[in-house]
Amino acid sequence: MIISTGTASGKSLAYLTPAVASCLDGGTILYLTPTKALAADQLRGLRELRIAQLRAACFDGDTPFEERTWVRKHANYVLTNPDMLHRSILPRHAQWSSFFRRLRMVVVDECHGYRGVFGSHVAQILRRLRRVCARYGSRPTFLLASATASEPGAFGVRLTGLEMDEVTVDASPKGSTTIALWEPPLTELRGEGGAPVRRTATAETADLLADLVLADVRTLAFVRSRRGAETVALTARAKLADVAFSLSTRHPRPATRHQPNTTGTPPLETNPTSSHQPRTAEQATIPQPAPLNPTPTLNHQPGTAEPTSATPPTSPEPAPTASRQSPTEPGGTTQATLLETDGQPGTEEPADPATPEPSRTTSGLSTTDPAACTSEHTGPTIEPASESSLTWALPDAPAQPDWSDLPNKIAAYRAGYLAEDRRLLEKALRSGTIMGLATTNALELGVDVSGLDAVLIAGWPGTRASLWQQAGRAGRDGQDALAVLIARDDPLDTYLVHHPQALFGQPVEAIVLDPDNPYVLGPHLCAAAAEIPLTDDDLPIFGTTTSTVLDDLVSQGLLRRRPAGWFWTKRERATDLADIRGGGGAPIQVVESSTGRLLGSVDEPSAHTTVHTGAVYIHQGETFLVELLDLEAGVALVSSATPDFTTFARDITDISILATQRSHPLGPGTLHFGEVEVTRQVVSYLKRRLQSGEMLGDEPLDLPPRTLRTRAVWWTLPASAVAPLAEAGIDLGGAAHAAEHASIGLLPLFATCDRWDIGGVSTELHADTGLLTVFVYDGHEGGAGFAERGYARAADWLTATREAITSCECERGCPSCIQSPKCGNGNEPLDKRGAVRLLNTLLSSQ
Ligand SMILES: [Zn+2]
Ligand SMILES: [Zn+2]
Repeated sequence: MIISTGTASGKSLAYLTPAVASCLDGGTILYLTPTKALAADQLRGLRELRIAQLRAACFDGDTPFEERTWVRKHANYVLTNPDMLHRSILPRHAQWSSFFRRLRMVVVDECHGYRGVFGSHVAQILRRLRRVCARYGSRPTFLLASATASEPGAFGVRLTGLEMDEVTVDASPKGSTTIALWEPPLTELRGEGGAPVRRTATAETADLLADLVLADVRTLAFVRSRRGAETVALTARAKLADVAFSLSTRHPRPATRHQPNTTGTPPLETNPTSSHQPRTAEQATIPQPAPLNPTPTLNHQPGTAEPTSATPPTSPEPAPTASRQSPTEPGGTTQATLLETDGQPGTEEPADPATPEPSRTTSGLSTTDPAACTSEHTGPTIEPASESSLTWALPDAPAQPDWSDLPNKIAAYRAGYLAEDRRLLEKALRSGTIMGLATTNALELGVDVSGLDAVLIAGWPGTRASLWQQAGRAGRDGQDALAVLIARDDPLDTYLVHHPQALFGQPVEAIVLDPDNPYVLGPHLCAAAAEIPLTDDDLPIFGTTTSTVLDDLVSQGLLRRRPAGWFWTKRERATDLADIRGGGGAPIQVVESSTGRLLGSVDEPSAHTTVHTGAVYIHQGETFLVELLDLEAGVALVSSATPDFTTFARDITDISILATQRSHPLGPGTLHFGEVEVTRQVVSYLKRRLQSGEMLGDEPLDLPPRTLRTRAVWWTLPASAVAPLAEAGIDLGGAAHAAEHASIGLLPLFATCDRWDIGGVSTELHADTGLLTVFVYDGHEGGAGFAERGYARAADWLTATREAITSCECERGCPSCIQSPKCGNGNEPLDKRGAVRLLNTLLSSQ
């Protein structure tokens, strides 16, 4: 059974009820989740039930060895993750025999996380689990819980190999959510090839976060990277510090004019926080935020034009910088609004002559607060965050409004906090001591945030499923809420804010995985054979390609064929062959050069793009610069740093076709899917300024090429179809290149992948096809199902690609449409107009 419904719709209750009942009845339960944090939270919930017969326990890498024996022998509800199941529980199944014998149910929670290569590994681990259960005579029910997904039943079949019933109707009570699509303006800055640069999504998010917190709207901002989340929080805090500064100078404490505005809705029209100027007169007019503890009204608040309203501040008007609103077809109770900000916010107002010298006002500010002490918005560096001391710790209940506390209402949150710290944060959010929180999606993994009014989403979160999941965080007790998607400088984001119909009334994506990938299947067959020798009866469990892969394993000497079946006869552990979260290859150790501290490891293929010499490397929220990547020694030396730029590795790629598996005509051309060999070489890296996105330079690198056997989708056009375009003066190479970049950006709309999971090659004349050809390939050895999905949805995918290009208002191409940050050719040549003509030709039905 798979339950696929929205956030907070009661999925946990749906599996807990039968699971606990099974325990009371003498059975055992295996609960799987992608992360340890979520398992720890589930455990807490189970213990709160206070049922004596329910002996729940976590079994993960943190479980002390002396406890593990107890868990194996006595626990009847074991919470673990696929890694532990793969490396520890299945290989030692004999020690778990009494657990497996009584196993009634396997709960696979948050199973939408099992996609791509990782999902394919988990699919094989679950098949091994089924085989071990059968050995002990049990046939557990698999109960999967997923965020909303398209065709969840089909996904469940692929993941488990079992027949699936699906539950997709969500009848839980919900208010309506207003969804705003927000496009940051183009700035005066110029990037590669003179292309305009858009204001960054993080800068816009910081503005909106500060505005919403000032308006007493409980807001959560989702930012892609931890560093991004910290930047948003710090920038928003700095803006509030400015507001606090301005208020404290106009209304120094003890304040007598505090307006206890209990409705908590100061108008958003004044936009005091979006200015990068020093304090101006504009800020003198800002409304005072609602005090935390309302006191009786003593006097009228001048300048508060807004009528008192009993409605909570759930749907604030968009900021006044919106120059255009085009409401579109509402889908259900959801409304879409396109907001385009109109360039820079007004900063031309003269400085307030009444603004005193900064030295007079520092007394009103907490001198220990790095954000408040700083006169620059971008000044504060990222606070050193240690695991145990939290930067957002606050006084419990300020008795009086104290403006210096204003910046402290915003905090950043990242993964890795201890459970008690997370509980503290939940408490602060509930009580309102924290009103604004910037986070990565860490919140989906272990923090309970109910009671939010608004959600800001900085950049397309990758899938409609995650968009709805994140937006679903807003809206307490069935009340109305606001969610804003802020577009990044990226073709997919551009497409989406201009095409709300791609978001509303659409099914969410299918979760894609490919359990038949031989690079995934092989290692798990070895592991399975090591657990219990494989026989012919086992072959159907592992899929149709099993016997071919087994023959390969035998010829490689990994397995031995005997009359009774296939055996693992090596001394090594078979499970070491499968690197279920990585990309294979010997890992590169990341070492801090000054201390020798080992920060972590990166698989070899990823090392070329993530820890090359000069790269900005982020580890648990801390930022490092890579001093040297030594591939031979398998080490990347890094040092702690706070650069104001990000880096993007650029590669050049060659591709050759090994086998064409499927083809069909597309317009005057042909679409293909098949096996390819890709040779990639990282040749340089691009530096872009963190705050503005401005391009700072392209530094060369000297790294060896790598080859990859994978799967690709490609399309060709015959000479007769492209000749008229060439005659019209179109640069065919530039047009194909531009179409390739944009189509890589758009594929994640159809397959749950990241644009970094896929790559492309385009050429006016490819050696293997003899034609103009554009390839898009899976960036993982053996393929991950993304290119296959592109083949299946090619017409929709390429139509969306063309529309993303035409939607962008730039003249000749920019990062929002056809430029790619990882282009090894420095985004040369590119022909925007030509790309549209080329796609028109391909999509014409002649
Ligand atoms: Zn553009
Ligand atoms: Zn390129």
